[in-house]
Amino acid sequence: TGEISLINEGKLTTCTHLPYKPFQMSEGGKVVGFDVDLVDLVADELGVKQEITDTPFEGIQSGELLNSGKCDVAAAGMTILPVREQNMDFSDPYFEATQALLVKKGSPYRSLADLRGKKLGTQLGTTGEEYAKQNQDANGYEIIQFEDLGLLTTAVLTGQVDAAINDNGVLYDFVKDNPETEVSVEFDTGEQYGIAVRTGNDALRGKINDVLKKAKESGEYDRIYEKWFGK
Ligand code: GLN
Repeated sequence: TGEISLINEGKLTTCTHLPYKPFQMSEGGKVVGFDVDLVDLVADELGVKQEITDTPFEGIQSGELLNSGKCDVAAAGMTILPVREQNMDFSDPYFEATQALLVKKGSPYRSLADLRGKKLGTQLGTTGEEYAKQNQDANGYEIIQFEDLGLLTTAVLTGQVDAAINDNGVLYDFVKDNPETEVSVEFDTGEQYGIAVRTGNDALRGKINDVLKKAKESGEYDRIYEKWFGK
């Protein structure tokens, strides 16, 4: 890998979108989570500190924030998609996900077809929202958009929506803390998360891939996984 130049000297600047527990969330004034720990390994390798900025997911997934030089990396539980690859470059995959429905426990909504005439909550700019839109005509539900995962999951608790669609990992994590909810179905969308860099930043992307590979080989990746997904 060649020279790695960072937008802020001595820092690895990360764009993320909060909250996306357990990948990134605020805890006691600090941003912590699975993605945070992985990017910290990259920062360590570069001999700098990670600095995290909270930004709208729309600007992350469009590549806008990376291309305008707002951050060096985007780490936001972000699915690698061909359309996104046109606007940024992704690391090797570091996590697998699939779409799922969050409902109140015991609710009858166990498929998209069950939601005919009902309200389905989505999170702006996400693969879940795209999946909901693609299947809307066939299933006849109303889509209600939310800016972030916190607002989306709260809408299920309050009954503002009948179900919410999002990635399975974050929804199972939510259910652990909110046993009055459940994941009623998963859809096999076969997604993989990647850490993104500005198009053409091969030096930094190569470094991230090296770090991911090393972390998987050394057991560090498993340790971080257990920390955020264990129990
Ligand atoms: N994995 C989903 C996507 O990329 C959701 C990511 C997120 O909301 N942070 O669209």
